[in-house]
Amino acid sequence: MAFDLPSLPYAMDALAPHISQETLEFHYGKHHQAYVNNLNGMVEGTDLASASLEDVIAQAEGGMFNNAAQVWNHTFYWNSMSPGGGGAPDGAVGGAIGSAFGSYDAFRTQFVQAAMTQFGSGWAWLVDAGSGLEIMKTANADLPMAHSAKALLTVDVWEHAYYIDYRNARPDYLNTFMDSLVNWDHVAAQMG
Ligand code: MN
Repeated sequence: MAFDLPSLPYAMDALAPHISQETLEFHYGKHHQAYVNNLNGMVEGTDLASASLEDVIAQAEGGMFNNAAQVWNHTFYWNSMSPGGGGAPDGAVGGAIGSAFGSYDAFRTQFVQAAMTQFGSGWAWLVDAGSGLEIMKTANADLPMAHSAKALLTVDVWEHAYYIDYRNARPDYLNTFMDSLVNWDHVAAQMG
């Protein structure tokens, strides 16, 4: 059973002008597809050839872990954004963020700070660590499930996520992510 590239949950131009069709053509169409292709090549003929993606992540090391985790991370990232998203959440998610961080503005500041200070490639996350909501950052392909935490939201801070649209300006990409892209319905579904 080979792994498939999941469909994007919106059209290639749906996040423009915040994230361009060109970025998605490369980031989804080339990078995410390459992680899927690499993973399929690596699991073929091994004990993990018919395992779930989560089981591969739990059991693999080195390149197989990196490619499996990047397949999972990118699918989660696409679902962490939506056209017309961003801004402060209401409902249960807004309440949980207020309880954990004091206010949405305090959360926003801490999340952007985590994403800004991830040196080099990686990810920033909102997670449920079992004792409440927390912010986490991970390097390269690393992800919350490898640290006994449940992912609720992520932003990709590899340069390939923003270089076409924002060049080296990671802060501009992160501010746009927070204010115009975050899919709070996805966060609510994860908290379910
Ligand atoms: Mn990426």
